[in-house]
Parts: sequence; C-alpha cells; structure tokens
Amino acid sequence: MAESKPSMMEECRISQPEQGSSQVFRPGKLLCIGRNYAKHAAELGNSVPTTPMVFLKPSSALTPSGGTVVIPDQSSDVHHEVELVCLIGRRGRDISRNDALSHVAGYAVGLDMTARDVQQKAKEKGHPWSVAKGFDTFAPLGEFRSADSVSDPQALNISLKVNNEVRQQGHTSDMIFPIDELIVYCSSIFTLLPGDLIYTGTPEGVSAVKTGDILEAEVEGLAPLHVSVS
Ligand code: ZN
Repeated sequence: MAESKPSMMEECRISQPEQGSSQVFRPGKLLCIGRNYAKHAAELGNSVPTTPMVFLKPSSALTPSGGTVVIPDQSSDVHHEVELVCLIGRRGRDISRNDALSHVAGYAVGLDMTARDVQQKAKEKGHPWSVAKGFDTFAPLGEFRSADSVSDPQALNISLKVNNEVRQQGHTSDMIFPIDELIVYCSSIFTLLPGDLIYTGTPEGVSAVKTGDILEAEVEGLAPLHVSVS
C-alpha cells in the first residue's frame, strides 16, 4: 500500500481581485446529481429521471487541481465524469426558483470520479452508491469563480480531455434539471449551508482512466482543472 496520503481540500476559496479579498468556505456536503444529461443517461442504459436523482459524496473525497486521483484497490474500472459545480454561499431551506441562483457564491469545474464496477454491483443488489462514488480523491475540484462573473451558468461549453484527447464534450444548456431547479429540489430535502457543493451531472462520453493519465477538465469561463491518475 502507498504510504503517501492523497491531498484533500480543506477549503473552497473565491478570489475577488477587484476587492483585493477572497471568500473562504469550509466544504460541506457534496450533493451530486445523477443522469442530468439525457445522452449520458442513455449511454449507461438508464432512463431519464422525472425528478432530480441525488446522491451524496463525502467532503474527504475533494482534491484540488494539480492533485492526483488514486485508483483504489477495490476497483479496476474508474470513470471520469466532468461536471459544473456550484458552491452554496447562503443558507436556505425551501428556496424558490426565483431566489435559487442568489444562493450560489461561485462556480468551478469538478470531476465526479466513479468506480463503475463497484457501482454496477451496487445497482444489481439495490445497494447505495456511497462506496462507488466516495473514495478519497474521487471529487477533484478546480478554482472557483464568483457567481457574479458567470452571466449564464446554463450557457457554457463543458469538456474533458484525457492525455490531450477529447473524451467528453457537452453544453450546460443540455441539463435536464437546470441549476435553479436543482437548488429548489435539494433545498426541499436538505437545508443548504454555506460551503455545500452541488455537482450538477455529466454529459456523455464517460470512460475509464488508467495510471499515468492526465485529465484536463474545462467549463467555458472557469479555471481549468488538471489532475493526474495513479
Ligand atoms: Zn456524476
């Protein structure tokens, strides 16, 4: 077993250079949305949901850009899923659609790494996905841009390259449930707290990574996210 500890993210920071300051949040719960792009649902043989499909990842899975995704001993089929991530900046419960985006402090590019073989077994048994989705380093997250600097989060190209080859390419306008609806839905179940993160789902093109791969994830207008795989 490797001795080195993977790097975890202890804070989410939004730089505001115009004010010469930055906002810092302690990462809270990671709310992840499954099957939020129709073509991705189809590629895994899943139907399109009629309400958002939510699962949780532990914050211990967060790892910063420049870090390393570690393929765990328990899996031989770890997939990348590039996602737009929202950082909640203001507490809320039963948030209205009109008010929803005002609860977002910032946006970043994230990867929802998934042990697909572990997930497949869980699906067959009707077991939860926490293990398949929750290993250390399975939630890489890039630098945040303030929400003010993103004029329309539903109008952004999103893509992922592995070793310089495009594997995923999509557009946030293709989300089945846009971000404001996700916030309405999630806040009807969970109180949203500053530092909570919403991984908003992945477009099609997910595939396996292997040791030595370099992943570059991009969402238009946001800082790119780079991780290696070991
Ligand atoms: Zn995902």
